[in-house]
Amino acid sequence: RGPPPRDYLEGLNGEQRRAVETTDGPVLVLAGAGTGKTRVLTTRIAHILSLGLAWPSQILAVTFTNKAAREMKERIGILVGEAVEGMPWLGTFHSIGVKILRRHAELAGLRSDFTILDTDDQIRLIKQVIQAEGLDDKRWPARTFAHMIDGWKNKGYGPKDIPEGDARAFANGRGRELFSAYQDRLKTLNACDFGDLLCHPIRILRDNPDVLADYHSRFRYILVDEYQDTNTAQYMWLRLLAQRPRSKTPSSVASGDTFSHHGEKEGRLPSPLVGEGGSPRSGETGEGYSSGFEEAPFPGDLPSPAEGRARDDAPDDFSSAPAERSRASGDSASENKINICCVGDDDQSIYGWRGAEVDNILRFEKDFPGSTVIRLERNYRSTEHILGAASHLIAHNEGRLGKTLFTELSDPDHDKVQVHAAWDSEEEARAVGEEIEQAQRRGHNLNDMAILVRASFQMREFEDRFVTLGLNYRVIGGPRFYERMEIRDAMAYFRVVAQPADDLAFERIVNTPKRGLGDASVRMVHDYARARGIPMLEAAGEIVQTEEMKPKPRAALRELVDSFKRWRDLLEKTPHSELAEVILEESGYTAMWQNDRSAEAPGRLENLKELIRSMEEFESLRSFLEHVSLVMDAEQNADLDAVSIMTLHAAKGLEFETVFLPGWEEGLFPHQRSLDEGGRSGLEEERRLAYVGLTRAKRHCHLWFVSNRRIHGLWQSTIPSRFLDELPAAHVDVAEAPTNYGGFGGYGASRFDKAEAFSANRSTPGWQRAQQNRTEATSRNWGSRSGVAVERIGYGETDSGFGAGRKSVK
Ligand code: ATP
Ligand code: MG
Repeated sequence: RGPPPRDYLEGLNGEQRRAVETTDGPVLVLAGAGTGKTRVLTTRIAHILSLGLAWPSQILAVTFTNKAAREMKERIGILVGEAVEGMPWLGTFHSIGVKILRRHAELAGLRSDFTILDTDDQIRLIKQVIQAEGLDDKRWPARTFAHMIDGWKNKGYGPKDIPEGDARAFANGRGRELFSAYQDRLKTLNACDFGDLLCHPIRILRDNPDVLADYHSRFRYILVDEYQDTNTAQYMWLRLLAQRPRSKTPSSVASGDTFSHHGEKEGRLPSPLVGEGGSPRSGETGEGYSSGFEEAPFPGDLPSPAEGRARDDAPDDFSSAPAERSRASGDSASENKINICCVGDDDQSIYGWRGAEVDNILRFEKDFPGSTVIRLERNYRSTEHILGAASHLIAHNEGRLGKTLFTELSDPDHDKVQVHAAWDSEEEARAVGEEIEQAQRRGHNLNDMAILVRASFQMREFEDRFVTLGLNYRVIGGPRFYERMEIRDAMAYFRVVAQPADDLAFERIVNTPKRGLGDASVRMVHDYARARGIPMLEAAGEIVQTEEMKPKPRAALRELVDSFKRWRDLLEKTPHSELAEVILEESGYTAMWQNDRSAEAPGRLENLKELIRSMEEFESLRSFLEHVSLVMDAEQNADLDAVSIMTLHAAKGLEFETVFLPGWEEGLFPHQRSLDEGGRSGLEEERRLAYVGLTRAKRHCHLWFVSNRRIHGLWQSTIPSRFLDELPAAHVDVAEAPTNYGGFGGYGASRFDKAEAFSANRSTPGWQRAQQNRTEATSRNWGSRSGVAVERIGYGETDSGFGAGRKSVK
């Protein structure tokens, strides 16, 4: 029985199909890279839609990036053979969080037009808070505190919830107080930071049973990609949405007593579910906290009495399920069930440093009793060499579930994974560029190639090189267009127009371009605003009515205040991109760059033009501003055939025909910071990152290491990454050694002088010594490796003197 097979199911293997067709009850797909997890999710949505089990608006689907969300939407459209009308709840945790928060902003003490601060603004604000408390912000840097706040918010903590130890760790025990002051400031500014996009919704859902019940009746299906990288706050958020209350009265979910989190070492529940000191905050209902989900049946089995009511007063896009759904499901139990499906790979958990908890995936079965766990073993992405190399590498990690992976992409003609050496990063970039041009000449698209770096500073060299070569490239998730100074200035003007309470934006441009408003004047406005608890723009409007400020700055300030008033009036009447142009003209901002004689000025003016052009694509100024605050990936010229450059972290879930992985050197990859801070688990996370990198490649995979690298401005001789040692000889080739110049990769004459230096260092006692040093350094630095199977891949014999013996190079 069951539905007739549909086109979209064809081509799936048995287990994939089971993951798609098990629409009833919780499902976990736990499988290695390239096994089709994301494809299963996409197909599952198509399946749900085409069986009529739910409307698009009843499906909550979480992806890791905005880009992935867009791609998923497109793919679903293709699968169901028609444009999918609005999947309003398909997006990242943040984009869905902002949506929930806009709908219920008042429940978090905000107005629905709140601003989302980016990191820069956040730091500025924190600095102000630190200074306002009379603390020295040099001794207690805002960045450090911002980092702490992010950490707390990743755990779902508000100021009251942070553990005593944490609270003591900053500013002589004033951490809690500062955190609290920061949250107050955010509220006054009608703003929130990224962490709030999760934390506010959690509190809203937890504290407002009717709101929670509305979402429970709204979302029939919840799907989550990259589940291994959810943090505690995201996990709590999901649990709230995916778990129906056990009790029949909706109020039983007040204070979230049915929702607990695991794994807190202190044995206390993390906030926002608990109060200070580890004891649960007493909930309105007085229900016990001890009832974690372990003992509870899957709450979805219980009918939700709130459902009918919620539907009656359903707001905007909410619609009841298609009639076919009831026919298809029949029994009432499945009708009330919220069916969650998470897919992930514990070996690809690479955001531990940002608070991700791989445990979330490991305990899915406990959290959702009665769940179906599906493992996929066939990798459809990579050749046997790439998969072999990656599997062998990741096997060096201890804390893993372990998986079998196989591929049928096996052919004697397949390239092995290539390991290359270069003298320094410039040469590395040059060689990679050469390789790319050759591939291009053989007919490969640039779109099919990617360079994945461990640290973003590595990008510059490639960007420089590609600009020289005239090779198109795009930086994904990197230094973004919107982060450029002129763009940020322009945006600040727009933000104040859209949201006059946005003090941070106001401060940024109050004297940009210079209009004679010095620090003293700005401080006056600032203090006036603080004293009265009003926005700075409003304060400025009042100050200019008085004699307080000297005539000159007063006149300048009055003009600015008047201008904002005028622009705000225009907001209703003028298309926003036209208004933007007017603002930049009238404020003198455009003129400032026109009069600037520096080399960058023309480029900046072009960027401003591009900014205005890009605004046309948005309905309103607000949606544009929201877009900018949410954009994580810079997709410049999406239509252009271009090589992608990104960090390994940004490469998650993606795949490319050819992948270049530069910088496989100790200290860079594995990264020293991870080793220093994370010890063994830090190293394991680095290794997972290497696994992610290798498994992005479909056909060709090139690894690079250099002998000398400049890190933070200092030249250092380097040691090849231990990860190179961990690759299996059977699947790896070491690129030709530089024994004959012409043969050394054939990268062209310009390399000769360097290759010479390179080789001089090689065949001699110097080289022998370098090897010796390397071995010593190895046992010295990697003492902890004893017991780890080390398989040498032979580059020691053939290759260049890694430079390990050289103290300084340039
Ligand atoms: P990652 O862990 O890297 O996110 P994944 O498990 O999500 O990988 P997908 O990206 O869904 O894997 O799939 C990898 C590749 O294999 C894609 O190109 C996908 O189209 C292809 N693929 C998946 N399943 C099949 C199948 N049954 N037949 C043919 N190709 C498939
Ligand atoms: Mg995937």
